[in-house]
Amino acid sequence: MDSPTAAAWTKALLLLVVTLVAQAQPDQEFSYSFPQNWGGDCTYGNVQSPINIPRATSLVDTSLPVNPITNYTRNAGKLYNNGYSPEIVPKHPGGFGTLTIDGKVYKVINVHFHQPAEHTINVFIRYALEMHIEHQSANGDIAMLAVFFTQGSTPSSFLEKFLDLLPEISESGSTPIAVNLKLDKPVGKYARYTGSLSTPPCTEGVKWIVMLDPITMTRNQLDRYRASFPTPSARFLKPINGRVIRLSP
Ligand SMILES: [Zn+2]
Repeated sequence: MDSPTAAAWTKALLLLVVTLVAQAQPDQEFSYSFPQNWGGDCTYGNVQSPINIPRATSLVDTSLPVNPITNYTRNAGKLYNNGYSPEIVPKHPGGFGTLTIDGKVYKVINVHFHQPAEHTINVFIRYALEMHIEHQSANGDIAMLAVFFTQGSTPSSFLEKFLDLLPEISESGSTPIAVNLKLDKPVGKYARYTGSLSTPPCTEGVKWIVMLDPITMTRNQLDRYRASFPTPSARFLKPINGRVIRLSP
């Protein structure tokens, strides 16, 4: 696919440095095989993520910005294995830039992936991979921007840079790798709703922006991702429970 969205995103750069950096900090341990054991908001919350996005029937909200308002910048970070996905965190707070929602500024705190995608579109569409760019505001609120990847003939240059490094972090607890990350400006239609973190502790009140049109990657790229991260890492869909899902104009 060669849509403007895909073209913009495939321009995204991940420049690499070969320096090794300090010890990985293991994240909270949980299993996708036993989500009933996640507890807390994961078990008892009622505005959880991920959800199905009924694109065909959701309301278009003309008050929403046409594209998400981001100011992403290239900066140093580290790539490590968070136990279920590759994750990139900025070396310095705010190093990867910001997302602004309803006038509030959120800094990027990490970039990670789920395989297959967690959100579905119109029930039947579940893409092969979903990238989450996680952001936090000064008062601790969380905003998540999700981007889908789908199989096609055009490789993703963003993933390509990144895939070469995955074998080095395929073991949980392996040494993080220093990277320079540049996330390109996300453009295109998106859905907005309020949900939760999709991993424990499943904290609620998370502002979600889900980009609706996927970026293309090749079968070979997906195979290489799965070679280092073979275990599925998508949480089951959660009920909407009356929430309003808005689409960008
Ligand atoms: Zn995630």
